[in-house]
Amino acid sequence: MSVPFFSTTHSFTKQWPLIEEKLDRVIDTGQFTNGPMVKELERAIEVFTGAKHAIAVGNATDALIIMLHAAGIGEGDEVLVPSFTFFASASSIAHVGAVPVFCDIDPITYSIQPEEIERKLTSRTKAIMPVHLFTQMADMDQIRKIADKHQLLILEDSAEAISMFNDGLHAGLVGDAGVISFFPTKTLGAIGDAGMILTNNDWIAKQARRLRLHGQDEGIPYIHHLVGYNSRMDDIQAAVLLVRLQCLQGEIAKRAYLAACYDRELQKLVQVQTPRIKERTDTANPVYYVYLIEVEHRDDLVAFLAEHEIGTETYYPIALHTQPSFKELRYEEGSMPNAERACTRTVGLPLYPDMTEADVAEVCQVIEQFFEREDKR
Ligand SMILES: *Cc1c(COP(=O)(O)O)cnc(C)c1O
Repeated sequence: MSVPFFSTTHSFTKQWPLIEEKLDRVIDTGQFTNGPMVKELERAIEVFTGAKHAIAVGNATDALIIMLHAAGIGEGDEVLVPSFTFFASASSIAHVGAVPVFCDIDPITYSIQPEEIERKLTSRTKAIMPVHLFTQMADMDQIRKIADKHQLLILEDSAEAISMFNDGLHAGLVGDAGVISFFPTKTLGAIGDAGMILTNNDWIAKQARRLRLHGQDEGIPYIHHLVGYNSRMDDIQAAVLLVRLQCLQGEIAKRAYLAACYDRELQKLVQVQTPRIKERTDTANPVYYVYLIEVEHRDDLVAFLAEHEIGTETYYPIALHTQPSFKELRYEEGSMPNAERACTRTVGLPLYPDMTEADVAEVCQVIEQFFEREDKR
């Protein structure tokens, strides 16, 4: 029995009649980008997250760049960002002319370590970019305190964090602005690229709305207030997302159920570190976007699972401070031990609403076989 890393075939088939109805409407209006369906999705995401402004763009990488630009980050500024994250967290900072300053991570949440922030602050630091990965948010209470003390902006890479809350605030809204990715494998996925910026700040929202449209105010073309970008969401993607948003809470519950099945099976294996959720005093619930385990000999396990037709994804194999594209920043290998350790040990197992408990059992059984084989060696 094969278990792919990701599939939406079943749920897509189920949702198809509703999606088709909406797609017909898109065709009827003849507005295919930034049209009525996109506006409807923006309003729906505002309701879902509690954001004052949800601003649709082409993808979350664009959302990060536009968010940073809209918040006034640019040449000469430094932005603190964790080294263990997707490339876009840091490349977006470089794209607006600022310098990403890499920080080590907390080994439990895999998010930026607050002590590292204080260590790496300089007079040029303008913002902190916490990244919320896999299941839970960064330590936003600590980060908020540091940001307030040093008057820094908090610009969140909350691309993976739909439905994650900290003290009643949705990810991306604890700080000054955040983003959401609707890349197909994300918790709320489109059938192509799509992204959003979330903010409660009217000025950032106004600038972001201009920047996505070549610096124009909507409805007033050919006056370019800023040198912006072309980053539009397709109405087709918005149509799919509106239908999928209706199913999101149920799908998140299914993810939690599958994660509990994994926990139960894998906690028997001493060689496997299952995800740890940091205890919090507030109402933060984990949202299982990725089920990430840690093991020694990770690459051997990945190869063994692949031989047995089980898909995995290695998030993230190379710490950003050691990436070739950032070598001019002159970080040394070994300078961020938690991030570097995570890069050699972590792997994401299949986890998506279309999976069954039997799929989870199959994955766990093959993992068990792998360790039995290792023990015999
Ligand atoms: C997916 C992701 C992004 C980029 O999102 P796209 O929509 O693919 O551009 C950025 N940051 C993190 C942490 C992500 O997981």
